Amino acid sequence: MSGRWVVVAPSRARRPGAPRPGGGEGADDRTGCPLCEGRETATPPETFAIAPPGRPPDTPGWRVRVVPNKFPAFGPWPRHGDREDGLFTRRAAVGRQEVVVHSPRHARTLGDLGVRELELVADAWQARAAAAWEAGFSYVHALVNEGAGGGASLAHSHSQLVWLEEEPPFVRLERELQEAAEGCLLCRVLAEERQQRMRVVDERDGIVLLCPFAGRQPYEMLAAPLECERQPYASPSLAAALALAAEGVRRLRVAEGPVPLNLWLHAGGHWHLEILPRFGVLAGIELGAGYFVNTMAPESAAGILRES
Ligand SMILES: [Zn+2]
Ligand SMILES: [Zn+2]
Ligand SMILES: [Zn+2]
Repeated sequence: MSGRWVVVAPSRARRPGAPRPGGGEGADDRTGCPLCEGRETATPPETFAIAPPGRPPDTPGWRVRVVPNKFPAFGPWPRHGDREDGLFTRRAAVGRQEVVVHSPRHARTLGDLGVRELELVADAWQARAAAAWEAGFSYVHALVNEGAGGGASLAHSHSQLVWLEEEPPFVRLERELQEAAEGCLLCRVLAEERQQRMRVVDERDGIVLLCPFAGRQPYEMLAAPLECERQPYASPSLAAALALAAEGVRRLRVAEGPVPLNLWLHAGGHWHLEILPRFGVLAGIELGAGYFVNTMAPESAAGILRES
């Protein structure tokens, strides 16, 4: 579905000096955490919050809070077309970046959030996507980074929403491969996985969680609705998908302890969440040759997660 090739090489996990899983949480400065309830003035003014009626903005009492990212890569630059500079092309990185704070309490991972909290996170993603469409953006990239090895600079559980002017390259590539197949490719993959069973971790509320056939890293997971849905930001199933992804994160912690990870929503074609735990680093084979080396077969990973 991605066009990627993966080398499954369990013996490499046993080589001397191989990166060990775990140890992924990094430092936690709870006393200075700008995302905790009561420190609302440490962030830029909120753009959205789920809170009781009558609560003034940027005060305690909220359940989920959305604030602008203080250090965005995509910004509110003036839009202009591509500019040729000799052989080279420049384009303004137009976008907006927001931080969604998942809970007023200092939860450190999606795996610590309850079902109700995850429902409110899904509500916030959907409300902000509606605001993005309203403002003329056409794609919202929702993502979670956990642990220093996953690129997170704050320990308090949060996600980011990147409002973009167009579908980003990986999402477009997957959608095109899905559509080029006879019938939706992800629908066919899910049917096959449910028949083979060995890579399926869990299934509930119309969502399936599995370790995909060609996962890049140990315990890579995918959560997708069984229905062929195209609009996650309008789907009542988004909360269930987040809940099942969080269940996968929880099981991973039981199996391996805290592991840094990245999670993101692919909102092109048949939507899904991808969860990529960060064991080891991308090295010369991945970066130079384009082959991912996975030291744990997805079938083994799914087996361990099912029992965790
Ligand atoms: Zn905090
Ligand atoms: Zn489909
Ligand atoms: Zn995807």
